[in-house]
Amino acid sequence: MFNNLSDRITASLKGLRGHGRLSEADVDKTIREIRRALLDADVAVPVVRDFTGRVRERALGEEVSKALNPAQQVVKIVNDELVDVLGGATGELTWAKNPPTVIMLAGLQGAGKTTLAGKLAKWTKDQGHTPMLVAADLQRPNAVNQLQIVGERAGVPVFAPEPGNGVGDPVQVALNGVSTAQFQQHDVVIVDTAGRLGVDEEMMQQARDIRDAVHPDDTLFVVDAMIGQDAARVAEAFRDGVGFTGVVLSKLDGDARGGAALSITGVTQRPILFASTGEQLGDFERFHPDRMAGRILD
Ligand code: GDP
Repeated sequence: MFNNLSDRITASLKGLRGHGRLSEADVDKTIREIRRALLDADVAVPVVRDFTGRVRERALGEEVSKALNPAQQVVKIVNDELVDVLGGATGELTWAKNPPTVIMLAGLQGAGKTTLAGKLAKWTKDQGHTPMLVAADLQRPNAVNQLQIVGERAGVPVFAPEPGNGVGDPVQVALNGVSTAQFQQHDVVIVDTAGRLGVDEEMMQQARDIRDAVHPDDTLFVVDAMIGQDAARVAEAFRDGVGFTGVVLSKLDGDARGGAALSITGVTQRPILFASTGEQLGDFERFHPDRMAGRILD
């Protein structure tokens, strides 16, 4: 990930080295190169505009003109602004004062929600929590079964609707799941919800109904990083239609360019909390904006 972007930004910053003072033309040339690299990495245009605007303003300001090594100071500014565009500080889950902490997952079908549910459950379990998974995706025929398999692998119980009990109401399943978890003293409940192939009002309504029934402490929007800046567009639709507190980027292992990671927080003002980086349970990490920025400027 970020390979091409990283090569191009570092090459363009290297071009500033050896200049004693930086002229406006030097700065503008570098900014132009960075802008092109970001656009080629599929970063959303408004995010690129804000980013390059801030870097330019700071690079032409006092902190650079007074610096002993102006080129190095510009590298620092680009780093700061990259950290900022990736979300600033590392995001945290909201832990409920009175457990269970309820985490609802939302996103398009195929985004990686069910896979993520298992990873997140295992991650919380490894931290000493006692999670339970709730299968409220009744849209996809195999979703409940898939969550049960994932739960088994993670060693985490799954609350699922009784088989043969009609189609079932996902809101009722979510509610029953959360009250069962509470009764059985699980301190984290992860509710998997249905997605569609595209954004549609019925899907948003169902997600809203589940949200209003279970009052999640966090609603995580799961999105496939491979769709680049489209991830930010879908995220905006979910933010407005359902509302969410944080983002999980899935399939980051298949994303060479980095457009989703660099666009989503700027567009939605919501932090990326986790990244999913493969199909196995352990392919999961917290998202650290500073480390990601470091990878770009490596
Ligand atoms: P859902 O419809 O949102 O629940 O999506 P799934 O969890 O079923 O994932 C859809 C497909 O993407 C499955 O084949 C998963 O194995 C795959 N997948 C999920 N997360 C990742 C990931 O981080 N990396 C890769 N390479 N594949 C993933």
